[in-house]
Formats: sequence, structure tokens, C-alpha cells
Amino acid sequence: MLCRSVNREESSKSSSVKIPKPGAGQVRIKVQACGVCHSDVLTKEGQWPGIQFPRVPGHEVAGIIDELGASVSAWKVGERVGVGWHGGQDGTCPSCRRGDFRNCRNLKIPGIGYDGGYGQYMVAPIEALAPIPETLSDTEAAPLLCAGITTFNALRHSGALPGELVAVQGVGGLGHLGIQFANKFGYKVAAIGRGAESGTLAKNLGASAYINSEATNAAQALQELGGAQVILATAPSSKAMSALIDGLQPNGKLIVIGVAFDPIEVTPVQLISGSRSIQGWAAGTAADSEDTLRFAELTGVRPMIETYPLEKAAEAYARMLSGNATFRGVLTM
Ligand SMILES: [Zn+2]
Ligand SMILES: [Zn+2]
Repeated sequence: MLCRSVNREESSKSSSVKIPKPGAGQVRIKVQACGVCHSDVLTKEGQWPGIQFPRVPGHEVAGIIDELGASVSAWKVGERVGVGWHGGQDGTCPSCRRGDFRNCRNLKIPGIGYDGGYGQYMVAPIEALAPIPETLSDTEAAPLLCAGITTFNALRHSGALPGELVAVQGVGGLGHLGIQFANKFGYKVAAIGRGAESGTLAKNLGASAYINSEATNAAQALQELGGAQVILATAPSSKAMSALIDGLQPNGKLIVIGVAFDPIEVTPVQLISGSRSIQGWAAGTAADSEDTLRFAELTGVRPMIETYPLEKAAEAYARMLSGNATFRGVLTM
């Protein structure tokens, strides 16, 4: 079996490992496609606390169930399924006991807690599985299982109402899906990007306004549009996020989904005046993934992708990291 087993020293070698066997409550998936997500740096750079190497990255997985573990009755061999960031919950922590599986304190994440989708096979617990609708291809479904669900779920829980101004910062892997979902939810969408080039793309995706943050003060531009009820911050730049806070209208909310490690800077006065808030959001459960896939099927939201064979995983990863990929890199097996 060929897989991409990544650690800090051996980042570009492929390696063969035994085809895994599913345990009780698990299935084995023959991977068809796996999206390359910015959060894969947590695996590659060992930034996730306590991560054990070697570890196969990948948490945007589309594939076919090819073996059932013991006591699995609700799924069948041959069924097409997706696995996203939410790779399983413990069912017993304080969050799970309250039904808040998304925030399980011992969340299992594919590619971090166990081997993910940069390989031909992977094993996942059944609570991580979402059925893939027939009209979505594997390569279309894969990015919807992390980039898609994260933007979809953050927006549908944002409190913004149809017709209100929602800004999407970043027109990349997350942002290009966020713009489409925001448009389909009936918001007035302002996309914020660096440079003039992304403007046409953003408008084609459903933005009614495009703000070039290199040429204008983006917060001021949002205020000229009436102020944003929600700003969905997707680009992993704390500096860029900090610069947008003054673009919120009263009671507006900055929702942070782009992962960065340096602090967002904000003064208490910026938040107190107008009762503005900042919230983080992480993906969602497999049921949320299922909602995302069905909504995409219903409304035509699709990721823009460029595919790479598994052997070129390192190339796809480097392209994602460069910040220049307008399209979502997807590995195919
Ligand atoms: Zn991700
Ligand atoms: Zn839990």
C-alpha cells in the first residue's frame, strides 16, 4: 500500500504500510480522493500537541467502504462515504454528555489522532461517516468535508439573516466555498482579498462587492456598505483579521476559521462600542457534513479543485502552503 506518511524529518518520502483492519465499530475505506487542507500543517509540522509520528495526514476524505468491523450494521460494503475533521467523539466527556459532539474534549481527528486520507486505505469509526450524494464526485465531495462544512456550518450558526451584509475574508480554499454558501443563504456578500485579480472570481462565485485590501482600507469599505453583520475570516492571517474588526456593524461578529498562531489584536473599546464580538468555529459532526453535501447538491455549490495523484502529495501540499492556490488541491488514488 502506498501512503504518504509524514513526519518532520521525512516530509517527502512515500512509504508502504500494511492495509489496516477495521476494529469493532469501525469501517475500512478505500480512499478515492483526499483534499489538501491548510490544517495539514498541524500534522506535517508536528504542531498538534502530543501528535505521534509516523502519521498519515488527511481529513477531507471521500471513498468507498470496503470492509466492516465487528458490530457495524448501519453501513454496507460498497457505500460511498466521506470523513472530515470530526473523526469521532468519545461519547463520555462533559461536552458529549450534553450532546455537543462537535466540541468533544477528546475529539478524534483523522490525520492527527489516527491515520488519515493521504493513502489508499484508511480506517474510521462509524460516527465519522457521512454518505456522499450520488451527484457529487469524489473529488468534489472531498473539500466539502472540511473547507465546505466549516464555512457552511459557521455561516448557518452565525445569526446573520437573509439580506444582511456578510463579508468573507480570503478567496482561497475556504473562502471560495464561503462566498458560495453565503450567496445561497441569501446574504449580501462582500468578498475581501489581496490584489485586484480575485475580484472577478469572487463575483462569479456570488459576491456582490469585492474589496481589495491592498488598495483600500477594508474596514472602512465595509462601513461604506453599511457595516458587516458577520465577517467570516478564512485566510490564516491574524493581522488581516485584526484590520477588519472596525468593519462590523453594531452587534456584528467576526467568526474566525482560518488557523493561525499569532494573536489577533483588538482593543476592548473596539468590542464594547457596538457590542461587537469575536468567535472561533471548528467544522462540525458527520451529520453536519451530510447537511453540507446535500445543500451543495441542492444549490450547486461546488469546490474549485486541481487534482494531483497521491505520489505528488508533497507538491500539492507546497502549493497549498504558498497561499497562491486559488483552487483546492485534491489527491486522487
Ligand atoms: Zn481541514
Ligand atoms: Zn466527548
